[in-house]
Amino acid sequence: MTKIKIDENLCSGCGTCEAACPECFKVGENFKAHVIKQDCQGCDLDEVVADCPMGAISRE
Ligand code: SF4
Repeated sequence: MTKIKIDENLCSGCGTCEAACPECFKVGENFKAHVIKQDCQGCDLDEVVADCPMGAISRE
């Protein structure tokens, strides 16, 4: 299974990922996005990764 990772040093907390896929991403109170679900069914992960303005989301 693909593992989603967020580089907190790059994340600006903009919320784009959460807006695109609230099932998997949540911006915390520290304005850093967190992955709340790895096994995403509901979103196009390629798009979420591509749309992050900071390039903070990666997969391995
Ligand atoms: S889209 Fe990128 S920069 Fe914006 S909150 Fe999500 S991980 Fe952070």
